[in-house]
Amino acid sequence: MSEIAESVAGIIADVRSRGDQALLDFTERWDGVRLEAGSLRVGAEILGAAAEESDFAAAFTRAAARIEKFHIQVKPRTSLFEDEEGVLMGMRWTPIRSVGLYVPGGKAAYPSTLAMTALPAKIAGVERIVVVSPPGPDGEISPQVLMAAKILGIEEVYRVGGAQAVAALAIGTDSIPKVDKIFGPGNAFVAEAKLQLFGEVGIDMFAGPSELVVYADETADPGWAAADLLAQAEHDESTRVTLLASGEGVLKAVRQCVDELLEESPRRETIETSLERNGCFEVVTDPVRAADRINEIAPEHLSIQVANPFSFLPLVQNAGAIFLGKESPVAIGDYFAGPNHVLPTGGTARFASCLSVEDFMKRSNLVRMSLDFTQAASRDVEELALGEGLPAHAGSVALRRQVPAEERVRGGLQAVTPYLLVEEEGEIKLNQNESPWDIPVELKDEVAERIRELPWNRYHQGIPQAFLDRIAADADLPAGSVLAASGSNLILQWVFEAFAGPGRSVLVPSPSFSLYPLWAKVTESRLDEVPLADDLSYDAEAVLAAVSEGRPDVTVLCLPNNPTGSELATEEVREIAAAAGEYGGLLVIDEAYREFSAENFDRTALVKEFDNLVLVRTCSKAFSAAGMRLGYLLAPVALATELSKLVPPFHLGLFTAVLGDVLWENKALFDERAATLNAERKRMQAAAAEIEGVKVFASEANFFLFKVADAGLVHEGLKERGILIRRQGGSERLENCLRVNVGTTEENDSFLGSLREILG
Ligand code: PMP
Repeated sequence: MSEIAESVAGIIADVRSRGDQALLDFTERWDGVRLEAGSLRVGAEILGAAAEESDFAAAFTRAAARIEKFHIQVKPRTSLFEDEEGVLMGMRWTPIRSVGLYVPGGKAAYPSTLAMTALPAKIAGVERIVVVSPPGPDGEISPQVLMAAKILGIEEVYRVGGAQAVAALAIGTDSIPKVDKIFGPGNAFVAEAKLQLFGEVGIDMFAGPSELVVYADETADPGWAAADLLAQAEHDESTRVTLLASGEGVLKAVRQCVDELLEESPRRETIETSLERNGCFEVVTDPVRAADRINEIAPEHLSIQVANPFSFLPLVQNAGAIFLGKESPVAIGDYFAGPNHVLPTGGTARFASCLSVEDFMKRSNLVRMSLDFTQAASRDVEELALGEGLPAHAGSVALRRQVPAEERVRGGLQAVTPYLLVEEEGEIKLNQNESPWDIPVELKDEVAERIRELPWNRYHQGIPQAFLDRIAADADLPAGSVLAASGSNLILQWVFEAFAGPGRSVLVPSPSFSLYPLWAKVTESRLDEVPLADDLSYDAEAVLAAVSEGRPDVTVLCLPNNPTGSELATEEVREIAAAAGEYGGLLVIDEAYREFSAENFDRTALVKEFDNLVLVRTCSKAFSAAGMRLGYLLAPVALATELSKLVPPFHLGLFTAVLGDVLWENKALFDERAATLNAERKRMQAAAAEIEGVKVFASEANFFLFKVADAGLVHEGLKERGILIRRQGGSERLENCLRVNVGTTEENDSFLGSLREILG
């Protein structure tokens, strides 16, 4: 074991057993300052002051902005693809949770290096970024480093350096919780500590001497090329700079400029030693030979200062960073351009890469197989596993070859509990948002009459044609814009089937109709929810933001909303439709209760205006036909055509088809009923609000929501009196809320009277 290795092993062992005490002792020994126990961490006020007092905070901030912008561009993205056998595969990138950034002390304390490590870490999404740096004799870290930390938004900075700092980051002490990976250059002790602790903690590359190769032809500016060589050589004496010149004349000219520039250089001594020891000036006339030399050297930096750098580039394989053209000085790359300046040194560019966001992340493989695939693959896998003498592998696959039929349903379906309407006993049913009035018997007779005329033995297209045509005409939409189905539920289900699915996302309001989350689950779609405002009204801004930012495949808005009765202004809906339209997202508006809503919420015209908007309606509520099952859709023809592919042949029975026509021929009756119910709702809301302990929410539907202190008590009390209303559960915000729908005047009075009794 070398002396350094032995010493570092001792430091690590000591930090492991004595923690913070060992850190304080080593700091005293190596950095010449005795810190107090508990003062390892730099306080927020010190960081703040450093940023305020710095001379180049503004330039640093501008550089950081460019570096940040570049690294956002190169952040690796999770990729997924599905092969022809339906296997979904990919790689997912996730950030490392915590990283430690080592910043050397003394003259090597570079704020630019902190920016080059901290910014990719932030962009990767690292939760905890820790900086360690040795204190000077005054007990404080370099003010430039503190300034940089402050501007970069790093809050956890410790006054500790050397092998002990690396040990603390890897092992953890009372003051410094351990991290998952350590980055940053340091002296031989730091490098050795990283080497010894690798495995217990992740580490970046090992830093070696800095390198530059300038490849110049007669189009290069000899002064500029010489200045670049000097800039590199000033780092330290071990720096290696190489000039590859395309001819004797170029070499001479650059050499002469080097000599001239050296005369005036404040770091002349370092540069001279570096050039003497490691400088190399070569003539290489053939570009292929020049590239060979570069690939042998595998320099940290390569500056191509020839007439057409891009035509030379394909010949280069090994280089950490490549600067194309004489207008691209390495020094701007060091500080400002954007790409990272932490690069592979010492010829390691043969196999190593520049630092980037992915170094702060890790990949996981993702794979999702279908049962069919697994069963089909099982024979091959069994053979392979048995061939390798691993019978348990074979067994785990063979086991899946037989799966009971009920377990073969898709995972999403297995996960749901079905929607169930619990039938409750009660005279007055104000719990299902139904119409209190049945369809008049003359109309029922009319339907019966008409279907009697039709042949029941023949397939019937099941299309209530008069109904569809009339709806399309009323909406001023072309034929083919309207679809009918047995209930609007089914239409919504088709929409989910067509537009949602695994890997897709659905945005719904919360709270809203409980079937939306259920269908999201069944279709294995991602569900995003946008909460209503505190007063349970729609928060249009929040919906808009959720659409623009989340780019859901499908957004479902229930207007008026079930169970709250909330509406959205047409102008707001228009903005949401436009935001979704920008990327082709579908906006579905479930208008089950539209007929009760005020006229100024009519959205019919939007179907013509937007090619991504669908209205879903029903005859269940305002048309008194819940038991008959008839819903319909208004959509741009292209969307309706796609959805019509899901309509099963002859899906609507004759009865419903005929009913649709009869209902529409008598539309005036139902419009009048809706108006009556609407007025009744207002009356009920006002009366309920008068009752002490009742908070009534605004509604535009044939129901409204109210809140009491004890919803269970009110619900039970009403039930005892034969009145059924709906208790709301599931969401915290609906705690103690009850939904009541509008019935006949007598029913409503009965409800109000009972409510007064119960709460009185
Ligand atoms: N959407 C909403 C918001 C509903 O409340 C309902 C029924 N409760 C439906 C759709 C389904 O109605 P139907 O299938 O009867 O047309």
